[in-house]
Amino acid sequence: MEKGRIIKALSGFYYVESEGRTVQCRARGNFRKKKITPLVGDIVGFEAENPTDGYILAVADRKSELFRPPIANIDQAILVFSAKEPDFSPLLLDKFLVHTEAAELESVICVSKADLGLEKADPYLSAYEKAGYRVIITSSETEGQVNELLPVLSGRLSVFAGQSGVGKSSILNALKPELKLETAAISKSLNRGKHTTRHVELIHMPDGGFVADTPGFSSLDFRHVETETLSAMYPEMAARINDCKFRGCTHLNEPGCAVKQAVKSGEIPAFRYQSYKQFYEEIANRKRRY
Ligand code: GDP
Ligand code: ZN
Repeated sequence: MEKGRIIKALSGFYYVESEGRTVQCRARGNFRKKKITPLVGDIVGFEAENPTDGYILAVADRKSELFRPPIANIDQAILVFSAKEPDFSPLLLDKFLVHTEAAELESVICVSKADLGLEKADPYLSAYEKAGYRVIITSSETEGQVNELLPVLSGRLSVFAGQSGVGKSSILNALKPELKLETAAISKSLNRGKHTTRHVELIHMPDGGFVADTPGFSSLDFRHVETETLSAMYPEMAARINDCKFRGCTHLNEPGCAVKQAVKSGEIPAFRYQSYKQFYEEIANRKRRY
């Protein structure tokens, strides 16, 4: 049995890459009894009947699983947030971070469109770095300014995320010109939306590593986050919750709260705590509704 990775799934076929070639496979293993459906990103065992066709016989345990888009074994999310147009939004970035933390994915923050000026983003970036996130500044309009992403992507499976219009497709096109992904400017001129649903495919990056060609986390509905676990999604809060006086402290009104104390002393940035409170409320309201 050979080992490879599924890089594309389409109409019942799985395209498995192994040793520099791609084999078109159907699923035929025991795993189907366990109701496991192979996903793009899966590491699989397969048997090739001939140079181009074969069968998947086994699916390796996954280190992560994303459902929208369906991809297994993602190593990291690249959260793209433009410096301007649209304005850098720490609130929305915090929301994405809660989701990537809940999915147990590493996150890299990519501040795009640096050519438009960083003054809107600058006040927040050191807080994210202090919380442990890597921050990378890019511009697709400035020659070579996206290349800093290449070593970050190398050897890993990444998914890009971020609201539409922040420049995700432009970054990928700048990293790999032959991709020719449609950007907003183009879809506007053709007068159609660019988010036609289609299959997911993994793209090889020039310095190694794969990127999914479809952005992740298109829906941010907190379905997989509870009020009780929300603070654990903020690394700088998670590090302190054991010091709160009460077990199960919500960090909202309790006395002896180590999180509130750290906000007061400035160790936890006020804006991060504000987003925590806002999301806490959103999750609590969602619970009440159902
Ligand atoms: P996506 O929806 O996140 O994939 O964003 P696009 O790549 O389609 O870009 C949205 C718009 O922003 C397009 O009109 C791009 O030309 C523009 N844009 C993308 N990257 C940059 C950049 O680095 N600087 C500037 N000034 N504009 C950019
Ligand atoms: Zn507390």
